[in-house]
Amino acid sequence: LHVTTAAILSIGDELVLGQTADTNAAWLSDQLATRGILTAEHRTVGDDRGAVAAAIRELAASAGLLIITGGLGPTADDLTREALGDAAHPGESLVTDDGAIQHLARWFQRRGRTMPASNLRQAQRPRSARFLPNPRGTAPGLAVTLRETLIFALPGPPAEMQPMFLDAVVPHLPRSDDHVILTAAVNAFGFPEAEAAERLGDLMERDRNPLVGTTVSRGILRGRVRSTGSALEARAAMDAAIAAIERAWQPYVFGRDGESLQESAAGLLHRSGRSIAIAESCTGGQLGAMLADVPGISASFIGGWITYSNPMKESQLGVSAELLRQHGAVSVAAAAAMAAGARARSGADIALSITGIAGPEGGTPAKPVGTVFVGLIAGDDRDHPVVRRFQFSGDRASIRDRAAKSALQMLRWSLQGVAEDAPLLFEVRPAAVEAGR
Ligand code: ATP
Repeated sequence: LHVTTAAILSIGDELVLGQTADTNAAWLSDQLATRGILTAEHRTVGDDRGAVAAAIRELAASAGLLIITGGLGPTADDLTREALGDAAHPGESLVTDDGAIQHLARWFQRRGRTMPASNLRQAQRPRSARFLPNPRGTAPGLAVTLRETLIFALPGPPAEMQPMFLDAVVPHLPRSDDHVILTAAVNAFGFPEAEAAERLGDLMERDRNPLVGTTVSRGILRGRVRSTGSALEARAAMDAAIAAIERAWQPYVFGRDGESLQESAAGLLHRSGRSIAIAESCTGGQLGAMLADVPGISASFIGGWITYSNPMKESQLGVSAELLRQHGAVSVAAAAAMAAGARARSGADIALSITGIAGPEGGTPAKPVGTVFVGLIAGDDRDHPVVRRFQFSGDRASIRDRAAKSALQMLRWSLQGVAEDAPLLFEVRPAAVEAGR
């Protein structure tokens, strides 16, 4: 059997109407890729027998492996069985499988329920198809070969589909170390995507193997690598490409694959053995929430303040009323005093503060919406807070998100000893341009 490319067909009105996002296709492609099978096409079709049958015929004509999900339930709109029959044996009706009836009967019996007559539809299959057991639900899967193409139909719910793929489909896939596809990503924050691409140079040429591409989502840059070849070659080339991206993107790189900025910062904190406290204004607790995302953070994160108003900044953090009058609550001086107050009052080794104007109202010519100051006091420079000024663009949510992420990157850099002159995206220098307010 020669499976070079796969196609994935997702079935359901809820998918084409946009009520459910098609996560099955993404999951399946990824699973196939790790086994060396490239997915050439994803297709989504509503609950329409003719359309599903046509899609099966077309995709089977171009791919060696076709995986279908959805439409195997007991109701009248579950038409995958019929459509598969139309494609495999046009004009014939489905046959009833005695083994499947027994399986369904036992499934209901074990749960103390009587089987509704409609579930009998699920015991029907195209003549040449084979049933695949579903340990988690009533909808059995189906396997059939159409000319040279292996076709598997699996139920729609991911919790049922995934174990069935692993148990019933994977053993039938061609398994060889001659050809694998490996994927990995390098994550970075704090510099523009165009510069990221420039720094990669010819690593990003489209006909290279490994293939390198960049994406950016909510400020997080990813260098994505796809490496194909024999297991050994692909791994070696992947490792080299990852190392090259990491070198090119310093000091902005924070992790690989699914690792988040907060996980990376938490890991560095943990290894440093130092504790941290925070003082937030415009982010309203977002920085604290991000830190608290990470399991085990209690070893480092001792707490913090959300001081949204001036009186709270004064009473909780000891920021002087005079300072706030003179410089404003959104200023280098206020960010520094908030960090100093948080450190002094918590006893933490490190303090981070954020104060800014998230908008959409409240900007001034000297401090427009998006102006944010982030203050950091780390162990060795207790009395010398580092304050960076940012001018973020975007809406309120994105300004607050970038502010919290920039604070985390500043924290990482301080723990790694990255020189203070490395600029962050949207940073304005010098921070202390504060003519008027
Ligand atoms: P069952 O009888 O267990 O419902 P089924 O094969 O009939 O199986 P569908 O009715 O098509 O499955 O889908 C059931 C649910 O599974 C959907 O409402 C949706 O929540 C989820 N689902 C279906 N297809 C997908 C998909 N491609 N990606 C993510 N979720 C999906």
